[in-house]
Amino acid sequence: MALTENNKQNDLTVIQISDTHLMNKDNLEFLQMNPSATFHAVMKDLQQKYPHVNSIFHTGDLAQAPVPETYETYINFMNSLGIPYYQIPGNHDKAEFFPFHHNQNQVHAIKIGFWTVILLNSAVKGQVHGWIEDEQLQQLDTLLAEHKDQHIIITCHHHPLEMDSRWIDNHKLKNSESFCEIFKKYSNIKMVLFGHVHQESINLWNNIHFYSTPSTCVQFKPKSEQFALDSSAPGYRVLHLKEDGTFSTEIHRIDTLNLKINLEISGY
Ligand SMILES: [Zn+2]
Repeated sequence: MALTENNKQNDLTVIQISDTHLMNKDNLEFLQMNPSATFHAVMKDLQQKYPHVNSIFHTGDLAQAPVPETYETYINFMNSLGIPYYQIPGNHDKAEFFPFHHNQNQVHAIKIGFWTVILLNSAVKGQVHGWIEDEQLQQLDTLLAEHKDQHIIITCHHHPLEMDSRWIDNHKLKNSESFCEIFKKYSNIKMVLFGHVHQESINLWNNIHFYSTPSTCVQFKPKSEQFALDSSAPGYRVLHLKEDGTFSTEIHRIDTLNLKINLEISGY
């Protein structure tokens, strides 16, 4: 058998979705968009394009209405797909109801073949900005030391690097320096995935790619001084991960013919 074929079989397809901002009732809107409708359109699109997904990671702000029903509806739907899925909390989520992996507020390492995805909680109760507790930073360091033979993906909700957008950067991960300090000790960290900023971005720092992903609902305008919505469509990120640690990634957006986006909204 040709080596390339063999390699291809081992390639992993991992999906990142983010900022679903789901309500507890299907007919409720968030910033004049129906988050349930756009979420399901995204999920349908990714299943059609990628029938063999290894796992789905949700990088937070799962709920706009953070009540148990919202999370239960999400979990029931995701269970019906038969694809392993994981989620981390965002600033809009409620810790007491949020289904963080195993319901434990600690750093988790999810092994998928030669890759390990690390789940961090950057949400701070009652705050929009992010902060990773010292205890989690220590757990992160320990897990990284234990997974030196794996290719690493780090996930958190908040953006560690600035987005060149004043209002969004006020709400960034405030202790990203201590976070990046740990990264310097390891050469196998390939990327950091996050949401929160409701837009696509790519940054490179110390050979680590930092990627944000569009919301499955409303988008924020890139590089804006003040809060502003963007007319780009809801979307998701796909990652193609190879055994040797190389990867490719792209964003897909759904067809928005039937979506209405009100760009006049001035805050949320
Ligand atoms: Zn959000």
